[in-house]
Amino acid sequence: MIDTTQIRQNYQMVQEKIARACQSVRRSTDSVGLVVVTKAQPPDLIRAVVDAGARIIGENYPDETERKMQILGLLPQVAWHMIGHVQSRKARIVASRFDLLESLDSIELARKMSALMIAEGRTLPVLLEMNVGGVQSKGGWDASHEHLWPDLYPIVEEIIGLPGLRIGGLMTMPPYAEDAEYSRPFFIHLARLRDHLAGRYPSQDWTHLSMGTSIDYPVAIQEGATLVRVGTAIVGLRPPKGI
Ligand SMILES: *Cc1c(COP(=O)(O)O)cnc(C)c1O
Repeated sequence: MIDTTQIRQNYQMVQEKIARACQSVRRSTDSVGLVVVTKAQPPDLIRAVVDAGARIIGENYPDETERKMQILGLLPQVAWHMIGHVQSRKARIVASRFDLLESLDSIELARKMSALMIAEGRTLPVLLEMNVGGVQSKGGWDASHEHLWPDLYPIVEEIIGLPGLRIGGLMTMPPYAEDAEYSRPFFIHLARLRDHLAGRYPSQDWTHLSMGTSIDYPVAIQEGATLVRVGTAIVGLRPPKGI
């Protein structure tokens, strides 16, 4: 059974914390989008978070998401964001089903997505996933040291030239830490990289900084996040097995 009351309370609590974090740095609450992460959670739970007010749903696995979408039917007010690593053979689902790809992490995937989007006759906004934490961190291009940033130029330039894709900003997942303050330098680093790329490629849209999860989203907002990806703080722990 889904505890819809609990989910509604959690959702409102997170929205309040977002508002407080925005106030603490004099940002408008409208400048932060809340992505509710529902990986491994059932369709009924997605319905409950949408009823609670969620307008962006984040998912990690294309085929799992497609199954859930089929059960849910049309949710016209909802935007679906892919936030997990996309395997080449699953790219087609992302092209046909998702509104934004937050986790673009290789030039091969970019080329593949471009071809698929041309076939779809649609343009997909993408965020470039950056690894700002070095080795122990998750996916993305290594941007952990400033001297590596020029290595990104040819990649960014190729993506700019790919039809069917539109750059929308950057995304990162810092190394796991219990203490939100541990994430702060990584968030600052991603914001600096965004400003750097925006200076070099001013014709592109570098608006989005997708950073911060259940543990550290208030800190991410203080450092400029425009999208925060919050799962467990709203939907509780993930079920032991996927659906
Ligand atoms: C699971 C996941 C999240 C959400 O993490 P929580 O700790 O549940 O808030 C955010 N981003 C990515 C990329 C994820 O895989």
